[in-house]
Amino acid sequence: MTFDSLGLAPDYLRAVADEGYTEPTPVQRQAIPLVLAGRDLLAAAQTGTGKTAAFVLPILQLLADSDPQTGVARSVHAKLVRPPVRALVLTPTRELALQVEESVRTYGRHRPTRSVAIYGGVGFSPQASALRKGAPIVVATPGRLLDHVGQQTIDLSRVEILVLDEADRMLDMGFIRDIRRVLALLPARRQSLLFSATFSDDIRRLAEGLLVDPATVDVAPRNTAAELVDQLVIPVDRERKRDLLAHLVGSGRISQALVFTRTKHGANRLAEQLGRDGIPAAAIHGNKSQGQRIRALDDFKAGRVGILVATDIAARGIDIEALPHVVNYELPMVASDYVHRIGRTGRAGVGGRAISLVCVDEAELLRDIQRLLQRPIASELVAGFEPDRSLRAEPLRTVPARDRGGARGSANPGRRRTGAPTGGRGPVAPGIGIGIGIGAGRGPAVRQHPIALPGERLRRSGGPAHANPHAAGAGANARTRP
Ligand code: AMP
Repeated sequence: MTFDSLGLAPDYLRAVADEGYTEPTPVQRQAIPLVLAGRDLLAAAQTGTGKTAAFVLPILQLLADSDPQTGVARSVHAKLVRPPVRALVLTPTRELALQVEESVRTYGRHRPTRSVAIYGGVGFSPQASALRKGAPIVVATPGRLLDHVGQQTIDLSRVEILVLDEADRMLDMGFIRDIRRVLALLPARRQSLLFSATFSDDIRRLAEGLLVDPATVDVAPRNTAAELVDQLVIPVDRERKRDLLAHLVGSGRISQALVFTRTKHGANRLAEQLGRDGIPAAAIHGNKSQGQRIRALDDFKAGRVGILVATDIAARGIDIEALPHVVNYELPMVASDYVHRIGRTGRAGVGGRAISLVCVDEAELLRDIQRLLQRPIASELVAGFEPDRSLRAEPLRTVPARDRGGARGSANPGRRRTGAPTGGRGPVAPGIGIGIGIGAGRGPAVRQHPIALPGERLRRSGGPAHANPHAAGAGANARTRP
């Protein structure tokens, strides 16, 4: 199927062709005709599915088709001092706001519609003056948007189309009240589109109050990204992760990668250490100023730095084309974050690679991830970096909620792991079939029992894949007793 059959005008088809897109992604195939037909939409689609174009393209066309300058409404709008805001896109993060707004310019290249990105952490005045000039499309994070409403630098009373992008993230970040305040300012008669990677009860409640007779688009079973991405675990000792990463870069196995750490401090430290190792790296996280984050992202996109180290929240929504590698320098505390992380590669049907450097402390996290994926992840030992089997698991450092990138409210829905395991769950040997000894230091009775799921394979660098000799049955756990 090509883009031609979706009802898009030639100017937008040209823009899509300029981008090198040959066929629409599933979310585009389904959503574009529905949005053009004026329907409200409830769309399950996560980053990487092509969802941005799925709403930006038809919105551009809808607005252009009734353009105050060319359409029927000319006489009415010509009297206005400035063109009204006609489409409003709400996003959870500044990065996503910037990227969506960039997409508006990209896809509107041959028939431009003015747009402005509104987000916090930068000066208010330039945004106010951009708004004063008039922008039919505004892409905004909720807090700063409400600041503009308060200062009367924006009028939302003429919005015709509303998009909530990554609505689940907005709720996770505590934006629900801000969203409701924005909704109260919009005309009741409008078209509304809600995009979300997941559908919790909260999202459904929000959708019920927001959407009228919505069409549903569901193209992203949760693990779609995971299926496209070639995933690999490399077991390594916690103290040797940085050397291993440097080795992977030095040997050319990794050229450009988004590297995830659990904490902002860890991201900074790793970027600095890599820099000292002669590997240009930048960190992006919630403590960086907006300017620093944009610069880091630009440097990375332009290839001036090969390694961008990020925390989960900071990386969410950043759009980097053709990202070949995601590296989990540290596994996330919550398994679903792994799926989000690796979704940063393998974009729009093109596979990428995710490499996880896993130490003995992270065994339980790895097992959670494999359980969520419902399959094991292949593992490979890298010569010279084989883990020391005598090392014992240590508790993972507690991650304070505030370290998850400036989220408001409770941003960590998952279990929190501290030095005192609860519910009898303690560190276990990694499910990577290499028989790493486990937390003898903390529990009186510790069994060494590597876990591996059926069919798990162990590969060695440079050697043939062979069945994991240590594989025990699924669910065989090693536990420490508290
Ligand atoms: P999104 O899910 O909107 O973040 O888009 C993910 C990536 O897919 C972006 O880098 C887009 O440029 C790219 N993309 C969007 N639509 C297509 C398409 N039809 N074919 C190939 N790539 C696409």
